[in-house]
Amino acid sequence: MDAIPDRVKVAVIGAGQAGLSVAYYLRRFELVADEDFVMLDRAPGPGGAWQHRWSSLRLGTAHRVNDLPGMGELGLSFETADRTLPAKEVVADYYGRFEEHFELRVHRPVNVRRVSNDGADLRIEYEDLSPQPEEELKTRGFFGRRRRTFQEPETGVVPRGEVRTQFLVNATGTWGSPFVPFYPGMAEYTGRHVHTSDYVSAEDFRDQHVVVVGGGTSAIGFMLELEPVAAGLTWVSRRPIDWLDRQELDLEGASAAVSRQDEAARAGRALPSIVSGTGVPKNRRIAAGIERGLLRARPMFDRIEGDRVVWDDGSSARADAIIWATGFRPELRHLAPLKLREKAGGVTVGQGAAWQDPRIFLAGYGPQASTIGANRAGRMIARQIMAIL
Ligand code: FAD
Repeated sequence: MDAIPDRVKVAVIGAGQAGLSVAYYLRRFELVADEDFVMLDRAPGPGGAWQHRWSSLRLGTAHRVNDLPGMGELGLSFETADRTLPAKEVVADYYGRFEEHFELRVHRPVNVRRVSNDGADLRIEYEDLSPQPEEELKTRGFFGRRRRTFQEPETGVVPRGEVRTQFLVNATGTWGSPFVPFYPGMAEYTGRHVHTSDYVSAEDFRDQHVVVVGGGTSAIGFMLELEPVAAGLTWVSRRPIDWLDRQELDLEGASAAVSRQDEAARAGRALPSIVSGTGVPKNRRIAAGIERGLLRARPMFDRIEGDRVVWDDGSSARADAIIWATGFRPELRHLAPLKLREKAGGVTVGQGAAWQDPRIFLAGYGPQASTIGANRAGRMIARQIMAIL
């Protein structure tokens, strides 16, 4: 890995769709020289969160994945990519080629631990997660089962460093911050808790009784995948499913959901669930699943007892595993020293700018949390940095 500079004008944390889009526009508008810019990402390779998603998620089963700005220059488009290949492979490959073409040098795997004030600058403290010689790497996941997001050295000293910056673009997405709601009996549950971020393949659940929790596309995808292998399947959702008579979700067209995100971000409130505002499109596979009775969600259970989930009417279902497809929250822990979080539970953000601090931008936050929104964030944030510079 190249040396990370000590001081820059613009630092971007996160090289997913949002971070890459901002970097592209900063480069295109010729805003910062190479030596005044740094991009840090803790993942082992290109692809942002997509590199961690399960192999059976194809471009054809995800929602639409929009091209990065400028990707056409490389002759690449997700529209024409092989939709039967794992989305994680295609996205990682295209992002990697994009970074190379536009010479966006991403320092990875570098985990940002905290960002704090340092006079007029911001101080970014990071750790270099590159495997150190003769060091064991352990795996880590939401329920401590396996590594999904980044490698953590088992022993030894992790090299640490600092970089000071005039502007910070935080583009850290949500994948590293899985959300699981609390239900009584969770801690004593004798089965296996699995969050979307830990899911690898349906084979892990062969001949098991599985309860899938969640009302979005991930939960539905898991139900369809598990149907042929699981011994028993129960689907529960905290709210009734709002089925759409449409094949594909148009994230940009879902203007009500995007506006609700925008309103919450501008008011500094915790962000609402995207899926509760968009509804769930019914493609042919899903429509057939509804038709044969697989995709009928029960209301949320009340508690967990031993290896069973129990409803308030006393009925219960066996659960060797519970898959929590219950979403993610923005990953902002490392920004805690900056005290950006409002009492209302969120960070006040308008047009990608943190209203409390003109040096800080949050790309891919709230209304920008889709591949098309992330693209828009890039242009919007680069323009604002240009205006200040
Ligand atoms: P990410 O892709 O998550 O990138 C954030 C980057 O920041 C990562 O590379 C991570 O390693 C890095 N990072 C995080 N914290 C740190 C730190 N402390 N230090 C250093 N680096 C850090 N959107 C769509 O438009 N279409 C879809 O089909 C779609 N499907 C989705 C399916 C699932 C299961 C989920 C969870 C989301 C989906 N989304 C989809 C939304 C998706 O999250 C966005 O589209 C987009 O990919 C997010 O880009 P991002 O750059 O904001 O975040």
